[in-house]
Amino acid sequence: MGRASRFFVPIQRKALRLQQKCCQAEGCDMPPEWCDAHHLDPWAASGKTDLKDGVLLCPHHHRLAHNPAYIHERLPHGTVRFTCRS
Ligand SMILES: [Zn+2]
Repeated sequence: MGRASRFFVPIQRKALRLQQKCCQAEGCDMPPEWCDAHHLDPWAASGKTDLKDGVLLCPHHHRLAHNPAYIHERLPHGTVRFTCRS
């Protein structure tokens, strides 16, 4: 979808649920149907709505991803690590 859509469309969310079997935060196993699709490259910073930039996060970890007190990074094996800034 690139920049054509701000939000992941249903077929993209379905593909993410098939690729990613649970919340992608380290140590979290929240089922995919309870997760949101999150842009790793923020939309506001010209991120694209593409599968490679999408990651499933449960509501708790999605809030952390948007909390400026935390940074998050995708690890080489695909999970997302959160670190408190301080
Ligand atoms: Zn989670």
